[in-house]
Amino acid sequence: MTMNIRIGNGYDIHRLVSDRPLILGGVHIPHELGLLGHSDADVLTHAIMDAMLGALSLGDIGHYFPPTDPQWKGADSLVLLQQVNQLIIDQGWQIGNIDSVVVAERPKLKPHIATMRDKLAAVLEVEANQVGVKATTNEKLGPAGREEGICAYAVVLLIAGD
Ligand code: MG
Repeated sequence: MTMNIRIGNGYDIHRLVSDRPLILGGVHIPHELGLLGHSDADVLTHAIMDAMLGALSLGDIGHYFPPTDPQWKGADSLVLLQQVNQLIIDQGWQIGNIDSVVVAERPKLKPHIATMRDKLAAVLEVEANQVGVKATTNEKLGPAGREEGICAYAVVLLIAGD
């Protein structure tokens, strides 16, 4: 079936540990805990990438950047995002808009949201107003609420053509 719009959703979670930097949306956020992962564990960027891939039924980021591959150890997730963006462009699609939520009990993310949007938009070559980033606590409930991890949800709308 031919369609000129596609929607995708993505979800990711990473464990919080004491000896890692906290990087969300490509922004290094000062905090005593950081996210554990094979790459830089940027949970927000990972959710966005999965939403972009999902919109075109292209699988997930684990397929393209397997955690077993030493090539991606410590990888800057914005570099991976740029590659996923190129993939969707090569298939004839562009981003209409993205919306996302980061669920973190601490630290306060609001001061960093504008920088995250600017960084993500720059990599994706879209306007910042096409990249929604929101933050919420989990009211101390569940793994995010107990600060065992940080999770992120994203949806993306892709539009055919340029
Ligand atoms: Mg991940």
